Amino acid sequence: MPYLLTDPLAATIVALIVGLCVGSFLNVVIHRLPKMLERSWAEQAAEIRNETPVPTATYNLWTPRSACPACGHAIGAFENVPVVSWLVLRGKCRACKAPISARYPFVEILGGVAAAGAVWYFGPTAKAVAASLFLWALIALTFIDADTQLLPDDITLPLVWGGLLANLFGLFVPLADAVIGAMAGYLVLWTVYWLFKLIRGKEGMGYGDFKLLAALGAWLGWKLLPLIVLMSSVVGAVLGILLIVFRRRDNATPMPFGPYLAIAGAIALFAGPALMRLWFP
Ligand SMILES: [Zn+2]
Repeated sequence: MPYLLTDPLAATIVALIVGLCVGSFLNVVIHRLPKMLERSWAEQAAEIRNETPVPTATYNLWTPRSACPACGHAIGAFENVPVVSWLVLRGKCRACKAPISARYPFVEILGGVAAAGAVWYFGPTAKAVAASLFLWALIALTFIDADTQLLPDDITLPLVWGGLLANLFGLFVPLADAVIGAMAGYLVLWTVYWLFKLIRGKEGMGYGDFKLLAALGAWLGWKLLPLIVLMSSVVGAVLGILLIVFRRRDNATPMPFGPYLAIAGAIALFAGPALMRLWFP
């Protein structure tokens, strides 16, 4: 085993395989977490109205087992190998031949590339493990926000604490930069939100966005926040205009901002310090 940990290429390949499997789990999180939240909100609402909650079957990340949404065919271990199964099955359910979205292997590949990139870039270190966790959380948040316009606290808040914990050991930035980053990240978007609301009388983003930028500040430090906000605005503006033009999207519907923040955060993890040196040599 020591060879796997010392040879950069071997460590990267191990990270890729682990990351592909985590990506498979991320698919479950992306699909189920919003439904789990909806259920718990409905239960809370029923409790407030003093209604007896309707008993429902257990539904969490582990129960029930994965099944084909079209025919209910339970997905066996051999149909659950990341990317490979999708390719072997040619993107179709083994039982009913209903198409399986290419998004499943895509998320798995993202999970694998994230971990492999982290290990390749940071070496087989604790820093690479932390960076992988950070990137996996960003992948889950990106797809959940794109699907549901939600950035669940169950991911954003642990991500804030995780960043502070990683930097308690100075993995990415000094602890002071991380603490200020978490606070500034939240406050910047909170301020923008209220200014926008006062001036335009409507909400441009959600509280989840503040918590996500707080998390990015906790991981990467306050000094990278201007770069992250700038990069996410550029990506968001370009994609937003394209969406309005090509899909005739109503520009009054709130645009999920989370994916752009997450993409900018992932870029900043690797390229942030270099980009900053470019601007402020
Ligand atoms: Zn099926």
